[in-house]
Amino acid sequence: MSSRKPDESPIPGQNAPEPESDSDPPAGTSGNSPDEEEEDEANIDRLRRFFKEKLTFFKSTNDEEEIVKVLDDFSIDGIVKYMKENDCKNIITMAGAGISTSAGIPDFRSPGTGLYNNLAKYDLPHPQAIFELDFFKRNPKPFFELAKELYPGTFKPTICHYFIKSLEEQGVLLRHYTQNIDTLERIAGLSEDKVIEAHGTFHTGHCLKCNAKYTKEWMKVRIFRDEIPECEKCQGIVKPDIVFFGEALPSKFHKALNDFGNCDLLIILGSSLAVQPFASLIDRVKDDVPRLLINREKAGQRSGVMSMLGMDGGLEFDSKNNRRDVCWLGDCDEGCLLLADKLGWGDELRLRVATEHKKIDAEAKKDETNRGGASSASNEVS
Ligand SMILES: [Zn+2]
Repeated sequence: MSSRKPDESPIPGQNAPEPESDSDPPAGTSGNSPDEEEEDEANIDRLRRFFKEKLTFFKSTNDEEEIVKVLDDFSIDGIVKYMKENDCKNIITMAGAGISTSAGIPDFRSPGTGLYNNLAKYDLPHPQAIFELDFFKRNPKPFFELAKELYPGTFKPTICHYFIKSLEEQGVLLRHYTQNIDTLERIAGLSEDKVIEAHGTFHTGHCLKCNAKYTKEWMKVRIFRDEIPECEKCQGIVKPDIVFFGEALPSKFHKALNDFGNCDLLIILGSSLAVQPFASLIDRVKDDVPRLLINREKAGQRSGVMSMLGMDGGLEFDSKNNRRDVCWLGDCDEGCLLLADKLGWGDELRLRVATEHKKIDAEAKKDETNRGGASSASNEVS
């Protein structure tokens, strides 16, 4: 029997708060405290549905009408219809590297992108060492070299980023969770309280010794001069606040997890849902909340016996028991534009992208003219 949601992250020192209402289907073993009645109810309900689904499963008949489908149609159209009929106002978006690739940012965590090859001269013990705290403390140079190449401000947010910003402006975005550290969400104008940077951010940095805080601009000047950013107070190394292997996720991430119980539509963008605990977030929404994956390949499906028995979470677009999951394969920008078009605000989105990009270009040009002057303002468009 499946024990827990895959909360257990590979990152030590992490204690995610208990999920509210998403315990596994036949969760008969959970300890019951008096104030968990509601959850018990939900569990019994889930249990009931579990057996019902299993019965249809093992009957191997065409009993599919037994399963209450949340969507009429497992396509973008089905999602659009659902959004309109249910007046979705608490959308959660979850994003991975795929939403930033069209901005020119390589998926640097996966080896073989070429980025790591550039770092060969540093003789890393293994590519990921560049994001390991111990290695960083001994030899921060490779990281800052990579940081220079990836530095936020050098890139423009994509259609997909502005799509998410549009959701916020329409008042229907509950929260945006991103695995990306490129701060493109912020550059696209997403509000601080709407974005959860699960793997940290370049937006700020801290001295590893005395914890003094530094801004993105302060770090940028030094990184671009090929210096190791050194604390002005104690000469410690200043590390951007991105989450390294072996570091806990930001507390903001854990605090916001209750969002998922209030979510009425989950949109997953450009993530292969391979990194925990981020990937397990998809199972935190309620059972009847549709989940749309826009990605180049299918992801987030559970494999093995557990999924065969329907006992674990994961996206179910290939399962005959699918009630609510939609997979749209392709480029994130295209998928978002298609969705926006079908929702009736595609042109508005196109205009927003054009206007914002023009602004960023103008800022960059201004910067270039003022070159020689220290920092740049091109990062802050909003
Ligand atoms: Zn310091």
